[in-house]
Amino acid sequence: MLPRILLIPFLSLLAWGQSPKTPVAAPRLKIALDAGHGGDDTGAKGPKGLLEKNAALAIVKELGAALSAAGFDVMLVRRDDTFIPLWDRAKLANEAGADLFISIHLNAARARAAKGSEVYFLSLDKGDEDAASVVALENAGAGAQPATDNVVAGILEDMAQKAYLQDSERLAVAVQLQLNRLGGIKERGVKQAPFVVLRGAAMPAVLVESAFISNRKEEAKLKNKAFLKKLAATITTGVRRYFAGGARTARRKAIATSS
Ligand SMILES: [Zn+2]
Repeated sequence: MLPRILLIPFLSLLAWGQSPKTPVAAPRLKIALDAGHGGDDTGAKGPKGLLEKNAALAIVKELGAALSAAGFDVMLVRRDDTFIPLWDRAKLANEAGADLFISIHLNAARARAAKGSEVYFLSLDKGDEDAASVVALENAGAGAQPATDNVVAGILEDMAQKAYLQDSERLAVAVQLQLNRLGGIKERGVKQAPFVVLRGAAMPAVLVESAFISNRKEEAKLKNKAFLKKLAATITTGVRRYFAGGARTARRKAIATSS
């Protein structure tokens, strides 16, 4: 029981909050969607020629529609076939006041049988060992980090994601759980890796390797609108579960911070 002296102002605050004259709509959550690559940076290429930049944009458009239908505001970092420097993508999302950043990519492996989805969040060090080749491919278009006139601003920008790593992991787990349920996609775990595109995001941020474009069957699925819709619905469910707090937050491992 609250002491009476505290209870009275508390109750009047409640009454004030419930005043019918001042209905305050909850602000809608905004999701920034980043389609990997673009322009001259084609990303990976499927055995039948499907380009990652095009498949990623197709997924992002379906995902944007699914998230909008679920009541989220959506901001597309890249809307067409243009290349936006990786360092700028999170900055655009920050400027738009987004609440989540999701970068969509397609995986490629020498082993053509590799299939399924992998969700990553940022590692401040070199990350999981088996992610090294994926990171090399995804960071290839980054170039050198642009110099900034303001050293302090540059450091803060670079470390923006550090404050959100636990939430990013929770988001990654929530989305991965749903993707694991999507038919035909083999279970793969959440991973941590130093993706340039995630570093400056001042919000929970994940990179989704949605499927293996190097796998003939998955490449075919990526050309199928019904599959793209299913994929979008699946990721949307993961996002909703994340916000509902229903995702299991069991930590895969302690997050290593670079010393
Ligand atoms: Zn990619």
